[in-house]
Amino acid sequence: MPIYEYEHLKKPCSLGRLFDVKQSIHDKSLMQCPNCGGPVRKLISRINISAPKTNSELRDLGFTKLVKRDHGVYENVTARDGDSRMVIRGKPETLPDLKKTIRD
Ligand SMILES: [Zn+2]
Repeated sequence: MPIYEYEHLKKPCSLGRLFDVKQSIHDKSLMQCPNCGGPVRKLISRINISAPKTNSELRDLGFTKLVKRDHGVYENVTARDGDSRMVIRGKPETLPDLKKTIRD
């Protein structure tokens, strides 16, 4: 379930001025704090990605991460099956194949 951020409009309670609530996307926005009953409003959701991520997490999220190893030479530390591990400037065939990334 996604996590939504709410803000107390008046006096914050023990949850703090801002607090997170796990809700189904089908649930209505809360109008009252579940803890103190005070008026609250839902904040525009943040992108729910907290850095840093491991390389395998990045790969699972569909990111490609290149780490510079030398002049014009980058290691693709999120290489997927069949991707070249090294990406070399001027050699487009060493670039990762994005068609594979979005296949699933
Ligand atoms: Zn409250």
